[in-house]
Amino acid sequence: MSRSSPKGTPPAPISDRKTLGSKKAARFTESVIREMTRLCQKQGGINLAQGFPDFPAPEAIKEAAVAAIRADVNQYAITWGARSLREAIAGKYQRDYGMEIDPERDVVVCCGSTEAMIASMLAVVDPGDEVVVFEPFYENYGPDAILSGAVPRYVTLHEPDWRLDADELSAAFNERTRAIIINTPNNPTGKVFAAEELAQIASLCQKWGVIAITDEIYEHILYEGRHIPIASLDGMRDRTVTINSLSKTYSLTGWRVGWAIATPPLSDAIRKVHDFLTVGAAAPLQEAAVVALGLSDGYYRQLAEDYRARRDVLLSALEQSGFVCFKPDGAYYIMTDISGFGFSDDTAFARHLIQTVGVAAVPGSSFYHRPEDGARKLRFTFCKREETLRAAAERLVLLKRS
Ligand code: PLP
Repeated sequence: MSRSSPKGTPPAPISDRKTLGSKKAARFTESVIREMTRLCQKQGGINLAQGFPDFPAPEAIKEAAVAAIRADVNQYAITWGARSLREAIAGKYQRDYGMEIDPERDVVVCCGSTEAMIASMLAVVDPGDEVVVFEPFYENYGPDAILSGAVPRYVTLHEPDWRLDADELSAAFNERTRAIIINTPNNPTGKVFAAEELAQIASLCQKWGVIAITDEIYEHILYEGRHIPIASLDGMRDRTVTINSLSKTYSLTGWRVGWAIATPPLSDAIRKVHDFLTVGAAAPLQEAAVVALGLSDGYYRQLAEDYRARRDVLLSALEQSGFVCFKPDGAYYIMTDISGFGFSDDTAFARHLIQTVGVAAVPGSSFYHRPEDGARKLRFTFCKREETLRAAAERLVLLKRS
């Protein structure tokens, strides 16, 4: 629209309401993680903030993507996912967990688990419904709740072992509770939910008629315990949305291929929302995902072993540099306590870390709804080559002298 005005007359002001974004969008800020990444790039630092690997993805998967593009798999896939990929997903859950998944009805392939989560929230939650969220939480769940109109009910995971208090959990459920978001293995804590904790959640879901939306993208990055999909527990199959993606298991965060698994009518609702959000994930990459999901058990064993070695390198570097670490049982992050450094504010300390030694981490406040609860924490990722982690270690020890 033209804003020209008769000569000498100032243009009519555009009302604030029209120039500003929506009230919803105003309720959350830009991702702090990406902000740290940008700051780090500007300083030429080592980025241990954002969880993306700096090592290559498996050759066979990349070759499959190239072959799919050469074979002209260039047009829209079926909205809820190429049949071959839906079959591969169902086959993997059958092999790994004995879960029966109908590829025709139960799978929605999305643009990463990020889209699978917001599509599921929009499909399940009505404005005003309560959603239980464990805290500290992966930072996307806050905006997901706002965008879907959910009222979050936070349940604390208590440090040092991120224990769940059964009474606090059950107090969070009531007749307004629509869903609970679970993330195991957990970002940012590294907690792996135990069988009895999942059983407790399952029993509350059944008592109150609640849907479990479970983000299990770190299922294969596990150092202690075992991964239990909550959907595999008695009575949970029809009230669970299981979310996963290629990003972490196959080191393909930029491909944006993920999925949600649920039975109808939940899956029907998610499919509809997904269709209007994105239509579908990249068609040739879906073909390559079939190859990824078909990798042998040895691939997953090696993945976990490699991550254990990286975890141990970063753990010892952080401890030697004065951080108190919460040792993760799964995923690829280390949450730390920074009290010893004498900074009252986690963000100021994160900036100090980038500016003085050139290492980026994520301020703890991004994982809490009250920023002060995370003000003495910082999260580092170790999804990097060992040489990157060793270079970071050399820089981190300089902190003691700065
Ligand atoms: N869920 C969790 C818990 C994560 O840590 C991340 C990325 O760090 C995502 C989802 C995003 O995954 P995707 O790349 O599949 O969207």
